[in-house]
Amino acid sequence: MKQKKPHSGEFRHKHSLGQNFIEDEALLEQLADLSLVTQEDCVLEIGPGFGALTRPLARRARQVLALEIDETLLPILRVTLEHSENASVVQGDVMRTKLAPLVSEAFGEGASLRVAANLPYYITTDVLTKLLFELPQAKSIAVMIQKEVGDKLLSGPGDEGYGPLAILCQFYYDVRRALDVPAACFTPPPKVDSSFMVLVRREQPLCVPADEALFLRLVRAAFVMRRKTLVNNLVAGFSLSREEAAAMLEETGLRAQARAEELSIGDFCALSDRLSARQGAKA
Ligand code: SAM
Repeated sequence: MKQKKPHSGEFRHKHSLGQNFIEDEALLEQLADLSLVTQEDCVLEIGPGFGALTRPLARRARQVLALEIDETLLPILRVTLEHSENASVVQGDVMRTKLAPLVSEAFGEGASLRVAANLPYYITTDVLTKLLFELPQAKSIAVMIQKEVGDKLLSGPGDEGYGPLAILCQFYYDVRRALDVPAACFTPPPKVDSSFMVLVRREQPLCVPADEALFLRLVRAAFVMRRKTLVNNLVAGFSLSREEAAAMLEETGLRAQARAEELSIGDFCALSDRLSARQGAKA
């Protein structure tokens, strides 16, 4: 069935809300396929816009819940989603919404959950970080983001952009670039090209630190002062003396002058186990 489309002239896209919409039906179908959604899955979509991606997602999913900040889109969504009975919309700011109760109320406890979005670019990093921690049960997160943020998510030691976001994403997820999407595919076109990234949750994190919370704290602390050596960041973040911090690096097989961006995720894991052993010995 041909779906109703709002006249684009009636709606003024808000740059401040990252409103770069996709209208190409073939591309939208492809994105929904790449989102790995099946009839078993319940989908949280962030930022449905006119509902262009919501519709193909709803055709594949058990249920879709779309969270949209812009109330002026709600009457439009009522029209565009009128034949998508398994899709519903809530108005709200993803950054101010507690996602765990939202999805458990909408889908029930234990539902098979996936996330899909053509994300507003101004909050990409914050939304991804929020999803990692608030919805650990999500089997996958499929998101359209700026191409260079996609590069960042795939980066490794020594690469530009390698940092906490890449490490956290790769620690919990198998990260893939599913599709590059040129700026011209959006209305209005943004200034940069995009990538559709698919993050599939690992059954076990990439490595198993003795204390996961300490590992996460270490990853954040290590990059606080990017230009400084790891020793400096360890001293500042964990109240260690320089000698203790340097000894810990040496015991982990790392150079005393090492910087955080040189360490692999396995190195961070090993270093956090050293820290954890030291804290245990001190307790
Ligand atoms: N899904 C639509 C598409 O692909 O055509 C629209 C995507 S557009 C890039 C981003 C959408 O996110 C817009 O509808 C925008 O209003 C919405 N949005 C922006 N900030 C938001 C926020 N903080 N919380 C929820 N939605 C937000």
